Amino acid sequence: MRYSKLFGRTSKEAPHDADSVNARLLVQAGFINQLAAGIYTYLPLGLRVLMKIKTIVRQEMDAVDGQEVLMPALIPKAPWETTKRWDAIDVLFKLKGAGDKEFALGPTHEEVVTPLVQQYVKSYKDLPVSVYQIQDKFRNEPRAKSGLLRGREFAMKDMYSFHTSLADLEHYYDRVKQQYLTVFSRCGLDAIITEASGGVFSKYSHEYQVATPSGEDLIYQCDACQWAVNREIAQVKKGDACPVCGKGIVLEIKAIEVGNIFKLSTRFADDFGFRVALEDGSAGKVWMGCYGFGPSRVMGSIVEVHHDDAGMLWPKSVAPYHVHLVSLSHKDEDVKRQIDEAAQDMHDELEAADVEVLWDDREEVRAGEKFADADLIGIPLRLVVSEKTLAEGSCEWKERHEIDARLVKLKDVQEQTKEWLSAPERLTSH
Ligand code: ATP
Ligand code: MG
Repeated sequence: MRYSKLFGRTSKEAPHDADSVNARLLVQAGFINQLAAGIYTYLPLGLRVLMKIKTIVRQEMDAVDGQEVLMPALIPKAPWETTKRWDAIDVLFKLKGAGDKEFALGPTHEEVVTPLVQQYVKSYKDLPVSVYQIQDKFRNEPRAKSGLLRGREFAMKDMYSFHTSLADLEHYYDRVKQQYLTVFSRCGLDAIITEASGGVFSKYSHEYQVATPSGEDLIYQCDACQWAVNREIAQVKKGDACPVCGKGIVLEIKAIEVGNIFKLSTRFADDFGFRVALEDGSAGKVWMGCYGFGPSRVMGSIVEVHHDDAGMLWPKSVAPYHVHLVSLSHKDEDVKRQIDEAAQDMHDELEAADVEVLWDDREEVRAGEKFADADLIGIPLRLVVSEKTLAEGSCEWKERHEIDARLVKLKDVQEQTKEWLSAPERLTSH
């Protein structure tokens, strides 16, 4: 992709109202654009990141036998009355349609998925089943803030599983609980499994918390066994001995909740009168689990965790492009043509090897400005072609987290880039 043709640009000025690192950097780098508080457009660069995060979570939910569906976001009032949540969910967006019929914009989908599955699942033989969707959710958050961390419209992957017994639910729940760790590590995040209130349904739910000073949540974590609990329900406080292993000390950590999984027990199935025929012919209760994950909040969290003074540092797995190719312009037409040809060749060769390249081909822009934009955008590998590098038959190779650049022969670039792409992430910022 040629940067000169890319829709959405970096700006020199940070947005004046940005209240967080992710809002400032993502807007300034041309990844997202704010329409109103907590409501954003994803520009091409930002959308590529969001789609990659969604692809990762889709692959990992498929790996635990989740089946993807897409439910409507516009939900009539009736099922919310069945579950008595029309007035109980304070962030519910309500609206009136033709004939004053009332609707809500989905903040979560138990009210749709339970009667949906009820229509197809009649017998114990049809269970367990697990369905998920990746969709925008709507919540009338009183304080939409911190860029992508707390939106009024935001992306969610929500999965719901259905079982004939608590034991089966618990078995599946543990499987998903593990798989979530893979999702987060593939997104370049270390997530801490944290006990949190389970509402009325079970003793605990489990949150996935990412430690960062900008986090809104406070969690307590044992420095020895890693057990963690959200402060909202904690029986412990900072400095206490760990109540689980007894060896470590409880630390207080600021964190962002990026995922949350619950055992819903039979609460929603009971509300809808959802029973299944058991082997002995009796009508059995249906046990449900629900598994939430926020792709847009994850995108914001990655920026909160992986940035430096100059900009963002994307993990290779979710970077908008793998390589930021920079060709430096030259006054002399012949030299300029050689630089352009070398850059074009490198672009084509890399793309042919499935390496995604953003090529800063702008003619009127100084080298310093191009480098500053590359740092801001945060693509993990920068390759520079200039008169100087071409004199050596090379390009300049610099990974985003490194300070020093080195020369790599043009003929070796494709192979070395492929090798680099398949090597483990190294994300330390300087
Ligand atoms: P919070 O306590 O932060 O308001 P929540 O506990 O209400 O979040 P869940 O209902 O557990 O959120 O939603 C599942 C996931 O969806 C969360 O773990 C988070 O990743 C994401 N999420 C929830 N609310 C928002 C929001 N307003 N903006 C962006 N992502 C969100
Ligand atoms: Mg939650």
